[in-house]
Amino acid sequence: MKLVIVESPAKAKTIEKYLGKEYKVKSSKGHVVDLPKSGLGVDVDHNYTPDYQVTKPAVLQELRQALKGVDTLVLASDPDREGEAIGWHIATELKVTDRSGRHTNKKIGLERIVFTEITKEAVQNAAANPRKIDMNLVDAQQARRILDRLVGYKLSPLLWKKIRYGLSAGRVQSVAVRLIVDRERERESFNADEYWNLIADIRTEKTNKIEIVYKLKTDGSEEESDEEVTETIEYDPNVIKVPFTLTQKQGKKFEAVSKAEIDKVISEVESKKWIVADVKKEESRKFPSPPFSTSTLQQTAANRLGFASARTMKIAQKLYEAGQITYMRTDSLHLSQQAIEAARKYLSARYGAKFVPEKPIVYKSKSKVAQEAHEAIRPTHFEKDAKSLGLSGDEERLYKLIRERALASQMLPAILESHTVKVNVDDYAFQAIGKQVLFKGYLEVYPDKVSEFDLPKMEVGQQVYPEKLLGTQHFTQPPARFSEASLIKELERLGIGRPSTYAPIIHTIQQRQYVEKEGRYFIPTDTGKVVTDLLVKYFEEIVDAGFTAQMENNLDEVANGSEEWVKMIDNFYKSFSTNLDKQDKKIKKEEFTKLGDSKEKCPDCGKAMIIKLGRFGRFLSCSDFPECKGMMSMDGKTDEDVQEQVKTKEFKETYLDAPKTEDGRDFLLKRGKFGEFWAHPDYPKVKDARPLELLPEKIVELYGEPPKTEDGRDYALKNGKFGKFWAHPDYPEVKDIIKIKTASKSGAKTSGKATKKRAKKASK
Ligand SMILES: [Zn+2]
Repeated sequence: MKLVIVESPAKAKTIEKYLGKEYKVKSSKGHVVDLPKSGLGVDVDHNYTPDYQVTKPAVLQELRQALKGVDTLVLASDPDREGEAIGWHIATELKVTDRSGRHTNKKIGLERIVFTEITKEAVQNAAANPRKIDMNLVDAQQARRILDRLVGYKLSPLLWKKIRYGLSAGRVQSVAVRLIVDRERERESFNADEYWNLIADIRTEKTNKIEIVYKLKTDGSEEESDEEVTETIEYDPNVIKVPFTLTQKQGKKFEAVSKAEIDKVISEVESKKWIVADVKKEESRKFPSPPFSTSTLQQTAANRLGFASARTMKIAQKLYEAGQITYMRTDSLHLSQQAIEAARKYLSARYGAKFVPEKPIVYKSKSKVAQEAHEAIRPTHFEKDAKSLGLSGDEERLYKLIRERALASQMLPAILESHTVKVNVDDYAFQAIGKQVLFKGYLEVYPDKVSEFDLPKMEVGQQVYPEKLLGTQHFTQPPARFSEASLIKELERLGIGRPSTYAPIIHTIQQRQYVEKEGRYFIPTDTGKVVTDLLVKYFEEIVDAGFTAQMENNLDEVANGSEEWVKMIDNFYKSFSTNLDKQDKKIKKEEFTKLGDSKEKCPDCGKAMIIKLGRFGRFLSCSDFPECKGMMSMDGKTDEDVQEQVKTKEFKETYLDAPKTEDGRDFLLKRGKFGEFWAHPDYPKVKDARPLELLPEKIVELYGEPPKTEDGRDYALKNGKFGKFWAHPDYPEVKDIIKIKTASKSGAKTSGKATKKRAKKASK
């Protein structure tokens, strides 16, 4: 009997079915050990030995039980570094190998099997061809984990000291935040230039009138897309009227910069002779894109389906685990021999041989190292469409995209014909370009957008007639903000993204509130800007794309076996920790919290105020700080103004009184980013901040009667991440919460006793 261990329970059943009676399959539900949650967890004085701690004792216990009576342990975790490390941790914890990966338990055999698709053939084939644990892959995974831990754990406390408590710095994430911050600053300092286009609608037959139209500011949008945009211009061949664009003056590129200039051009051309000067037809080919890698899948799903990268990966994982697509974490563009043959066979039968090239198309991966996942993302069965697999919703849409892209990658290019006509008027030249698809090729399957536009037949020397002249005002646009798609593209271009890291990077930078999304686009927060500035000034390497790309390359070399992981980390860590100590002394606390100037004057000394980043967001501080301690909230209210509110009738009828300190002083009302709160009078020296609490009768009025426990006690109203909820009086020991329903009027009427009882309790 062999015990096979996979990562996800969803896979276990299918694989057991494919492997037959001699195998039983269990799942580890991901990693079973990890670095400790608190503490460095890495022994920097002894070869960076990680202090792994068991995170899933129950799972391990189950696996130990399952191992009884088994003669071979088969590690079948995912086919990448992460999967290799998971397998090794399991084998070590089950005492089948030692920590160096050596097979030490002679009573139990050890096999590592990998498959990149969960099909009967692939799984059986993998089981018949086991190998040993690849310690190079394991080391590459460990090295990444340890590097990230060292940087995060050592750098974050410095940010707490110098900027704000609770901040954290990450290795690759900080570079991603920097890209977004730099782009925002480029946009802030961008000066838009005005320019004008002139479009002439031209008839091939004489016309009596010319219409002149101006369009102001036609494009203020900053929408950008990595995909080609569809644009089919309807052209009615019965009315021979074609829009030509002014392109040249005296044989040179021409663009008007003002309305006056475009007016001048119009007056010069409107009454002149318009003569066709050149007619050109050219054929071109439009080639299909390679099948998807992780990065292009995430980009295209974002652009075409509007999926965030995390969503794309979740759906792709489902499809993989259901045996419908190959492994979704890959930077390979390669398709297996069998896959190519299957695609070609399907395409010939379904669309005809004329769409299929004589020889298969081979795509080379950009990645310099042969990565451990071996194929691009493709369907396991090309002939099965989403419908025949019974897919719906997101899964249907993503599967369709993956399948069509992979199929198209083995098809002939589309053949396009462009048709260019140039019309000369005096010194000026106008041009129109038509485009036609002569042969659809791969477009038959994968709808890349081509704007088709027919031009009528025109001959050199022929006179044509302007019917309408349209001047349009434009402004040069700053570089677009990053979207998920364009950020992933940039990370890949810079060599700092890997299939397993794109989605986590995008998640982390938002979760840590270094960036926010506005529509599809990332904007840095104040914190993101301040932290980036500090890192750029004092830890240039950490936020340098080239340096980070080199680190990623080093990790790839560890995976290849051409670099030793301890040496690699040591090279980095020695200079990093020396620099850390040095810079810690240099950085002044106030240096990076200034965000800008303000028009307000200091309430204490009358000097100018500056905008600063504080614990609860922006506030105004006297520019003379620390000599003068004057400060205000962003709306110009001083601390005293806020504190005054406590005395108002409205406040007293809504909230419980201020909490008191042990020595009987009142807490003070302060304003933060998330509204008002009670602060210890010695705050922020004494870190005691408490939420405002509603009066019991106010709670009933707003949220209805509190639910009661079995022994008649009231549930308490609490503030959570997702709003208010009722919590058991012994919460959090008793984990019993009730979602808030909208206040019912009947609830409010029967307030009575419970309210009084609670009021008494609260006043104690
Ligand atoms: Zn002042």
